[in-house]
Amino acid sequence: MSDTVTQKLMLFFPRCECEKPIIYHLVKDYDLIVNVYRAKVTPEEEGYLVLDVTGAETDIARAIAFVRTFNVTVNTTGKGVIRDDHRCTHCGACVGHCPTGALHIKDPATRQVVYNEAECIECLKCIKVCPYNACASTF
Ligand code: SF4
Ligand code: SF4
Repeated sequence: MSDTVTQKLMLFFPRCECEKPIIYHLVKDYDLIVNVYRAKVTPEEEGYLVLDVTGAETDIARAIAFVRTFNVTVNTTGKGVIRDDHRCTHCGACVGHCPTGALHIKDPATRQVVYNEAECIECLKCIKVCPYNACASTF
């Protein structure tokens, strides 16, 4: 029997899959304990869920395979976007686009843009808007 483990998952939904009851299935069909801590699931839009799942390793693997059948992109690395501090000019263009505040200006005096990876939910917006290609995805 597999050990019980907890794994962070980031799920990215294409526009048409947002209303699928995926959490329900993770709990009911795969015996997982689910802790959602960030979500944006809006009908007609791309969406994401960031969650911890706790259960048997085999059940988590099966659940991930199930989720992927919905054309949902699953990031299991537990890592967010990487920012290259050598490329970042602290222009601030990404700050207003970052939905979680992972990229933020801590000190108005210096205008330095701080990146807190733990807050990143891989929405990838900063990658699109950064004029200096300072942000990159790990997957
Ligand atoms: S947009 Fe790019 S260069 Fe500008 S602050 Fe953000 S990461 Fe740095
Ligand atoms: S991908 Fe970029 S914009 Fe999106 S949450 Fe992470 S740091 Fe913020």
